[in-house]
Amino acid sequence: MNAHLAPFPDELLTSWYARRIYQRRGRTLADPTAVRDRTGQWCHPDIRPTTRWLNGAAQTFNVASSQLATNALAQRYPALPLDFIAWDRPPFATEQECFRSAPRLRLSWCNRCLAEDFAAHRPAHIRHHWVLAASCFCHRHRWPLEERCSVCNAFNWQIVGSARGPLRMLCAECWRPLERSLPAVLSAGADLQECWDRVIAFETEVFTALQGKTPDQFRFNFTSASQLLGEVRDISRLLARNYWGYTRSNIPLNAFISPAMTPGRLRPDFFESEAPFPLAVASMAKRRCLLAAVCAILDPTHATGVTLFGSNQPSAIETFVSTVDPCEIERCLAPDGRWSQTFVRQVRAAQQRKARKSRRAATAAGSGLPRMSVG
Ligand SMILES: [Zn+2]
Ligand SMILES: [Zn+2]
Repeated sequence: MNAHLAPFPDELLTSWYARRIYQRRGRTLADPTAVRDRTGQWCHPDIRPTTRWLNGAAQTFNVASSQLATNALAQRYPALPLDFIAWDRPPFATEQECFRSAPRLRLSWCNRCLAEDFAAHRPAHIRHHWVLAASCFCHRHRWPLEERCSVCNAFNWQIVGSARGPLRMLCAECWRPLERSLPAVLSAGADLQECWDRVIAFETEVFTALQGKTPDQFRFNFTSASQLLGEVRDISRLLARNYWGYTRSNIPLNAFISPAMTPGRLRPDFFESEAPFPLAVASMAKRRCLLAAVCAILDPTHATGVTLFGSNQPSAIETFVSTVDPCEIERCLAPDGRWSQTFVRQVRAAQQRKARKSRRAATAAGSGLPRMSVG
């Protein structure tokens, strides 16, 4: 029987480490955590493991350290910025902070991948793309990723082994396996699947950019990998901010809610976020809605917006320019090359359409007013 002693090709190093520790019950080994290097930068064992940790883990578990090194996220995605990883405790320190505890990744999972693992007698393991911030769906199964138990909504889970079966991920509150999907996801129709597929196609382009490769130029004309990542980062930050006050949920993102992104849950009403990188620290529901909005705003065709938000809504880019503070948009448009020429042109065209519509509305309102008699 294959004991799966080495990491799977798409497995996180800490996932491999955790299941190997589990197999050696009784031998106490510390859980790997992020450490600072000499320059003060965090080295997380899943992203950029230190040579010392790699050698130690390789020796302890009798696996080649070169094999472990290939499973680091920085190897798989050479252009991966830290804010494109999902964090429970992010490594970005604000100016006011003098101390920040070791960063910790935010994990999610695909129910169907876990079910396949169990059926194939493979230990349950965490895949690389389950910790990426621009990842809300399993591309293999075209299925939403989850971060809570589908039965009791708990976040906590544990790896548990049984006498005969492989290691499984179980909810730490109700002890049900995480292979269970939400009933609303299981009964999803073709309309929901089409919405998911739109976002999955966009995620694929972002993953290409994270590997340092140029995105599809038919879709993102004259857009480099770093420009696409910059646009995703900027738009998600602009959508999560509150510009006009009144209530904490008065943010542009709430104008981009697609029921397909939160199946089986009530329509969300997200709160403002002043975090520098909201996508990296958002809950799964907020992350899906943010990515769906960014996907529709960046897509040059109107069809994606219609699929996601319905045909009775204005185009996504028009909603974007009317709900975000124009000064903030100008701040992103001003630096040369921050956004691609194509996207800058689309934003300018949407701003002109918005101005024309407001002029027409003002004229219509003016002509409807009763005229004052003079003299
Ligand atoms: Zn899957
Ligand atoms: Zn549970």
